[in-house]
Amino acid sequence: MKCRVCREPAIIDIRRHNPSFCSGHFRKLCRDQTAKAIAQFDMLQPGDRLLVAVSGGKNSLAVGDILNELGYDAEGCYVGLGIGDYSDVSAEYAVRFARERDLTLVTQDLLTEHGFDLPHESRAAKRAPFSFCALIERVTRPFSLTIGSKPQEVTP
Ligand SMILES: [Zn+2]
Repeated sequence: MKCRVCREPAIIDIRRHNPSFCSGHFRKLCRDQTAKAIAQFDMLQPGDRLLVAVSGGKNSLAVGDILNELGYDAEGCYVGLGIGDYSDVSAEYAVRFARERDLTLVTQDLLTEHGFDLPHESRAAKRAPFSFCALIERVTRPFSLTIGSKPQEVTP
């Protein structure tokens, strides 16, 4: 399997686009697709203050990375939800990622800074954890907010 652009060994085969790409050309494809979507849907304007909600997973971290590569001033925001080891490990990924790229990362810990956490609050509110995350997003209105994982999580 070879990159369709440079014929170097491919690292990914994207069925939607049919071809395969090496690391460099896959990153270029992601940047180009992101820039195209931002322009097509008039999503962001130069100078917008961006806050990328990062979970520590590859999707949200990639969104922050790509937006900064495209020249946007995108800060990261990690919210410690209190989901045991999952939250500890994901926080480590987010902090390390931001440090390696010299990106600003705002962190909040629900339990220590706000007196509640996701497992207890979602049980008390009888809401699914993801609908609770939507509530958190609505409180961050001063920023243009994006999340990389699922379209329905993006604040309109
Ligand atoms: Zn290539």
